[in-house]
Amino acid sequence: MKFNTKVIHGGQIKEKGYGAVMPPIYQTSTYAQTKPGEHQGYEYSRTHNPTRTALENSIASIENGKHGLAFSSGLAAIDAVLKLFEPGDEIISTNDLYGGSYRLFDKVFKKFGLNFIFSDLQDINQISKLISDKTKMIWVETPTNPMMNLIDIKSIAELSKQHKILLSVDNTFATPFLQKPLDLGADIVMHSATKYLAGHSDVILGALVVKDSELADKLYFLQNSTGATCGPMDSFLTLRGIKTLHVRMERHCLNAKKIVEFLSNHERVDKIYWPGIESHPNHQLAKSQMKDFGGMVSFTTKDGDFKSVQEITSKLKVFTLAESLGGVESLANHPASMTHASIPRDLREKTGVVDSLIRLSVGIEDHEDLINDLKQAIN
Ligand SMILES: *Cc1c(COP(=O)(O)O)cnc(C)c1O
Repeated sequence: MKFNTKVIHGGQIKEKGYGAVMPPIYQTSTYAQTKPGEHQGYEYSRTHNPTRTALENSIASIENGKHGLAFSSGLAAIDAVLKLFEPGDEIISTNDLYGGSYRLFDKVFKKFGLNFIFSDLQDINQISKLISDKTKMIWVETPTNPMMNLIDIKSIAELSKQHKILLSVDNTFATPFLQKPLDLGADIVMHSATKYLAGHSDVILGALVVKDSELADKLYFLQNSTGATCGPMDSFLTLRGIKTLHVRMERHCLNAKKIVEFLSNHERVDKIYWPGIESHPNHQLAKSQMKDFGGMVSFTTKDGDFKSVQEITSKLKVFTLAESLGGVESLANHPASMTHASIPRDLREKTGVVDSLIRLSVGIEDHEDLINDLKQAIN
């Protein structure tokens, strides 16, 4: 099955009762048993729920994995992964990580004895130097948020296999439409399905996909034991979102391209961060690792201080000033004061998240309206 068919049919089972084309929202906590211990595969909805199963199978299918797990949020999914480890274990990650992931690593799991190394993982030789016998996992995000740096998944996967450590990829920004980490050798794919997968800014949901059954069993155990699962309604909404993922992503990418063209020719715009630009340091990698360049664009303005950025972002009318990304509607975000405010200033600025940086989640509206909106705000 090709990707565009998988988003609609992948992993789905025909509903037998009434022939419903969409899986019903099984809004139930428990299931009747015929005899003690005899049931139809479902006992209690923290453990399993048929609507959630439909979603988990769908996500596993589009990521070319075997096992999918859905959670109440992206962070709950990451939380489950981190609980695979023991005090003293070490995890290597990028230094421009999503703020919430950084906070979970540094402020929650560090105190339970996990050690984290944050580094620029664009240079593969640099990573081998960081690996010790305590290292258990490399956690990457690519493209990174909000600087759109790319990390070479295939090379890191080779390295992690040599050292017998896990490689996890947060695939929220790219989605499997653009990039398939498991095909490139990663062990775990993680999603904040809140963003592109669900795609309509109406749900918070997270997911993991793996190929290895033993690893999947450990994660299913943690999912059930710690209980941060998503409800049937949210599972349904996400599943519905996924069915149009390919069409939405095509338009996100196209609109981003048009906006980058506009920004490149604007005299007040200084730097533009989008992997589709030829001068982007990872442009070649983007061409080989990704199908297209995505809908996330960051840029700085020339005289950009905090005040001028505030002025620009508050003048936007079609773009909404908001955290989050990946929905059908365009959003603008000021990372330094919004999504990345929890990262200390010195660390933040070292990675490029300066006060004048604006991040756009380009939606699927008419691109001329989006460009006109940016034009009036920046002018
Ligand atoms: C939003 C986001 C998360 C966290 O997901 P939630 O669904 O908000 O818990 C993790 N990683 C990335 C890249 C994100 O954008």
